[in-house]
Amino acid sequence: MSWFRSSSDYAAVRAALALVLKAAAQRREPQGVDPDYLAWCGHLFYLRSALDAQLLGFQELTAEEFEGLRLMDEVARELGQTLRRCPHCGAFTEREITCDVCGKSMQSQKEGVV
Ligand SMILES: [Zn+2]
Repeated sequence: MSWFRSSSDYAAVRAALALVLKAAAQRREPQGVDPDYLAWCGHLFYLRSALDAQLLGFQELTAEEFEGLRLMDEVARELGQTLRRCPHCGAFTEREITCDVCGKSMQSQKEGVV
């Protein structure tokens, strides 16, 4: 299956990535993502892990996989500007006072806040 045949595919993958990354950051299951796109996002997550673990090199990626990873990084960067990382448990949350996951104060770290 080809993922980037048109700009509408591109927008759909981008939207799916945003939902999946946000859910992953908040340690919950993504809701409302098309199963095909969910599978593609999962594949990109796998590629990212394999690259980080040096089980795979960039030269082994297809052009489409490379583009998908680039898009994932872009979406992750944008999310990082709206989500804060909990200084205690590392989870991402949109809340400013207490962490959604561990319930502790978000105050001891300002990272990710514009
Ligand atoms: Zn926390």
